[in-house]
Amino acid sequence: MPANVPNVKLSNGKEMPIVGFGLWKVDNATCADTVYNAIKTGYRLFDGACDYGNEKEVGDGIKKAIQDGLVKREELFIVSKLWNSFHDKERVKPICKKQLQDYGIDYFDLYVIHFPIALKYVDPSVKYPPSWTSEADKVEFSKTPLADTYAAMEELYEEGLIKAIGVSNYNGALILDLTRYAKVLPQCLQIEHHPYLVQQDLLNLTKELGIAVTAYSSFGPASFVELDMTSAKNTALLFDQQDVQAIAKKHNKSPGQILLRWATQRGIAVIPKSNNPDRLAQNLDVCSFDLEKEDIEKISSLDKGLRFNNPLNYGLPVPIFA
Ligand code: NAD
Repeated sequence: MPANVPNVKLSNGKEMPIVGFGLWKVDNATCADTVYNAIKTGYRLFDGACDYGNEKEVGDGIKKAIQDGLVKREELFIVSKLWNSFHDKERVKPICKKQLQDYGIDYFDLYVIHFPIALKYVDPSVKYPPSWTSEADKVEFSKTPLADTYAAMEELYEEGLIKAIGVSNYNGALILDLTRYAKVLPQCLQIEHHPYLVQQDLLNLTKELGIAVTAYSSFGPASFVELDMTSAKNTALLFDQQDVQAIAKKHNKSPGQILLRWATQRGIAVIPKSNNPDRLAQNLDVCSFDLEKEDIEKISSLDKGLRFNNPLNYGLPVPIFA
């Protein structure tokens, strides 16, 4: 029996599952099967991006699941993101359409500005999936301000190519600025969020504005240890942290489930990834039990403002979180 996953109601009335499947670092060779199995397990939200380089394979997995009658398109919530090198106004719609074509669908449930920084345009025929570097293999910026990119996202929304607008890796100042120019506020903000990086002030601001929040990298350093990132290797894994372990034992759940429940119980959506069938099912089952108030407070008190997914940590001269 798949776990029962509640929805988060977005400010435009759309319903977004509070647990989804993240598609970063999902290998091309196994991606279609992974997505198919995730749908079979009960996942309905998929969080992709063009720079993950696997959108065609994700689309193949979805197509097969629909063909086999596991699910209907309208029961899925498909998320993708606008990469930094497509911020120039005239580039937004063509790349969104290419991404839709790769998935084999005609709308995204949510389309997200991936990072608040415009990079120089690189034509997909030259290099795709895109990256942080230009054709000259350097980090080069574009002059497009975020307000212009956002206006192009609003056009996609008005045309129905996307059913909700998201922004990611924005801080409070960028969101407050956005409230000055947006015709429609974003329905969702996606941020790095785990007990080492709680960002409570940002969560308070989004709550005030009615913007839903999706947490990425819910397990903190785990995702970045596999990328060999020094700060992640030098930080204790959250799975091994003694309070997390004690709370897991008390509830007879895995530490991973406790970390995900810590978010979902506070209304924050999560998008973990796993190729392991047991963890795949566990990660979806993170709303069927409740933590006590003290458990949540204990986990929240692990906060150290420690961010891993910072371009500077990959050696990229893009200080967006400075
Ligand atoms: P993750 O949450 O998927 O987890 C990282 C690691 O934990 C993986 O190695 C996974 O195998 C392991 N894991 C999964 N479940 C586990 C469990 N129950 N117990 C123990 N280990 C477990 O981290 P992530 O990939 O960094 O983030 C999740 C998703 O968020 C991504 O796939 C992507 O869709 C999205 N994301 C978005 C941004 C952004 O800039 N907007 C950045 C990073 C990630």
